Amino acid sequence: MAAPLRLTNTLTRRKEEFRPIDPSNVRIYACGPTVYDFAHIGNARPIIVFDLLFRLLRHLYGEAHVTYVRNVTDVDDKINARAAERGVSIRELTDGTLTQFHEDIRALGVLRPSVEPRATDHIEEMRRLIEGLVKSGHAYVAEEHVLFDVPSMPDYGQLSKRPLDEMEAGARVDVAPYKRSPLDFVLWKPSKAGEPSWPSPAGIATPGRPGWHIECSAMSWKHLGETFDIHAGGLDLIFPHHENEIAQSRCCFGTAVMANYWLHNGFLQVEGEKMSKSLGNFVTIHDALKEWPGEVIRLNMLKTHYRQPIDWTARSLDESWDTLRSWYAHEDFGSGGDAEIAPSVLEALLDDLNTPRAIAELHSLSGKGDRAALASTLRALGFAGRIDDPRAVEVDRDAVQQKIELRLAARAAKNWAESDRIRDELKAMGVQLKDGKDGTTTWEFARH
Ligand code: AMP
Ligand code: ZN
Repeated sequence: MAAPLRLTNTLTRRKEEFRPIDPSNVRIYACGPTVYDFAHIGNARPIIVFDLLFRLLRHLYGEAHVTYVRNVTDVDDKINARAAERGVSIRELTDGTLTQFHEDIRALGVLRPSVEPRATDHIEEMRRLIEGLVKSGHAYVAEEHVLFDVPSMPDYGQLSKRPLDEMEAGARVDVAPYKRSPLDFVLWKPSKAGEPSWPSPAGIATPGRPGWHIECSAMSWKHLGETFDIHAGGLDLIFPHHENEIAQSRCCFGTAVMANYWLHNGFLQVEGEKMSKSLGNFVTIHDALKEWPGEVIRLNMLKTHYRQPIDWTARSLDESWDTLRSWYAHEDFGSGGDAEIAPSVLEALLDDLNTPRAIAELHSLSGKGDRAALASTLRALGFAGRIDDPRAVEVDRDAVQQKIELRLAARAAKNWAESDRIRDELKAMGVQLKDGKDGTTTWEFARH
């Protein structure tokens, strides 16, 4: 009998044994992407980490007994602005971005979640939640907005450990005049001209659109119920997003918790700073996949424990590539077969997804020559044995050969400038030429 699964719960700040409400249907929700543009490698971190958790839960409870919901936010200011900029409809923009996102994360070995709800398909649920909150005195209408009345919830702030009175004391004063308390947040707001809009709840005559937080309360309710097991996302979502989700769901349903376990991944950083769109220090998953095989990116992400910050460097990616190459350097690695997690690796993962230790155990299996256990464990963890060099694949061999011939002709005509130009052009494609003594030229693809 394996040790129990233990997870660090942000709600209690402790590592706790995981006990599902219903082992025949373990329910997990993760906040998904806002689909206005390519996702970056930082966004890939929660996707990969919680995919691993999904796989582990399926291993422990059975594939048919885990429901994993990862939503898509397809109503947002950035989406409206980008669609207007490109002159496309919002649906065209969000559909295109979502298709790209699916392609990118499939290359990272990520499974499709059980349900992938879109916010715009759940407006009715949002309206019902908002109506419920107004009726129970936790929300109010002001200037065609519906606001959540934060002081109406005495234990608001439990997740982020910010007591209500402290927040009230520290609140900014330059807030919208229609808010009763500066802490109150928007559940529904009027749509501006050109923005998507839906019939409003709570007797508001003009059409409007939902706030961000209510989306996740509505989608998790629809697909997982009023209370579920695990809610996950990046560290930056603890406050205000997750705090406000909890306020909405608990106050609407009168429940003690929204989810029993709250898991948060640390940031992926570049030179010590969080990778983000606004800082401009980001690499999209799409571009990263032109340089590194998806499985290398996946392994590199898992080398660091999910709660720790991770510095994203080419050097670390190179090392991950070397590791996979050594693990894959044996017969028929990727061709089907069992997908069972070796006990030593499982034990590491059960300890709050201790992936650094799990990887050390994989090295140990490799060192002992236990190829079958290594292969089947890797498969179970989302590694299919494919590490083709994406940069090599991009090279059109015929085009390279043609350029080499042009260069040989230039050399024969003693046109050294042209010859050098062609050499540089090939170099930019990653092709390294080697001139032989006998006048022939061979080439190789150089990774660096
Ligand atoms: P966003 O598109 O910013 O709402 O982020 C989508 C998801 O990616 C959320 O769970 C964020 O917490 C997470 N995320 C964004 N940036 C990073 C980062 N640099 N490192 C880790 N997670 C991130
Ligand atoms: Zn959310």
